[in-house]
Amino acid sequence: MIYLDNNSTTRVDPRVVEAILPFFDTVYGNAASTSHAMGWAAADAVSAAIDTIAACIGAESREIVMTSGATESMNLAIKGAAPFVENRGKHLISSLAEHKAGIDAIKRLAKQGWKVSWLKPDSSGRIHADQVAEAMTAETSLCSIMLANNELGTINPIAEIAEVCRLRSVILHSDATAAVGKMAVDVDGLGVDLMSFSAHKFYGPKGVGGLYVRRRGRAVRLVPQIEGGGHQRGYRSGTLAVGLIAGMAMALEISTKCILVEMERLRELRDLLESRIREGVDGVILNGDRASRIGNTLNLRFEGVSGEALMLSLKGLAISSGSACSASDPEPSHVLRSIGLSDDEARSSLRFSLGRFNTREEIEQAAAEVVMAVQALRVLVRSI
Ligand SMILES: *Cc1c(COP(=O)(O)O)cnc(C)c1O
Repeated sequence: MIYLDNNSTTRVDPRVVEAILPFFDTVYGNAASTSHAMGWAAADAVSAAIDTIAACIGAESREIVMTSGATESMNLAIKGAAPFVENRGKHLISSLAEHKAGIDAIKRLAKQGWKVSWLKPDSSGRIHADQVAEAMTAETSLCSIMLANNELGTINPIAEIAEVCRLRSVILHSDATAAVGKMAVDVDGLGVDLMSFSAHKFYGPKGVGGLYVRRRGRAVRLVPQIEGGGHQRGYRSGTLAVGLIAGMAMALEISTKCILVEMERLRELRDLLESRIREGVDGVILNGDRASRIGNTLNLRFEGVSGEALMLSLKGLAISSGSACSASDPEPSHVLRSIGLSDDEARSSLRFSLGRFNTREEIEQAAAEVVMAVQALRVLVRSI
């Protein structure tokens, strides 16, 4: 199997696996046990890990809340910030191309009387700062726009959007899950107040993520969504997953250190994949933004071919149709719909997301298989 679905999840880096293992059978204390050395060792490991994670995104350690993943981080950010700002107004700005975790958390607020402006991205999937500015009303108090789109790879101008938000004292959350580990991310450079990210997208384990919560300058306050015990300064209770947190730190440190070299390599392989496919078949259209795009992501539409049929005939490739598409959920991607594709166009699109462990040989082979499959399906369609 050639794994080209790294935006869904990644293989855990062997160095990360090694870093996690001692926390199962050696350093297995509870980081909240303050009465003995086993607890202290766990607490030390957690605080070292959080220092590392914070440093990788330009934050301070006290600004990091550990969670079970980006979905939880986003719920905490959006639902947690809302009660503190709603006295200013219950209007929120977001976009139609956000991850479902963001969309569903915001829909929950909408049920509680919040008004939501769902901005429509441009044809490459980007939200512009002036769109955000235009959507602002006297009631706007929250804004949630992702840094990079997980289906298209398109990068949003978050620093510009943050400036618009800052001038109006609107709290900005950004879902950076598709960006952290794949591009330089600095919370001050971006100007975000809240930022979600997840370890399993950068070769760390599943089940652990982080939320950046600004404490410097204008501090953001959050109502905890998980209570009991007051862990993590009350922001998120529950026994800390020491090993997963240590693994996340190791994974982010590795990704941050080799980001330039690794992303250059992936960008080259990604572009090789596209050009090889284009050499073999025509009627291939790029979804997303060619220039401002995460280096590992390629989303292509194959004219006149069903993406589902294509995926089925590409048994040797782990790829995705861009959404959580399955037989039980035949809905076309809401992201592709949001950039103006018809249902049929969305259904004829595939997302290839490359990763650290892909080789050039795999990419050559994947391209050859795609070309063969598209040609075969087109012959089939013509013969009907
Ligand atoms: C994967 C992903 C999520 C969800 O992250 P989990 O850690 O799996 O909950 C959210 N947003 C984006 C952009 C993602 O790619």
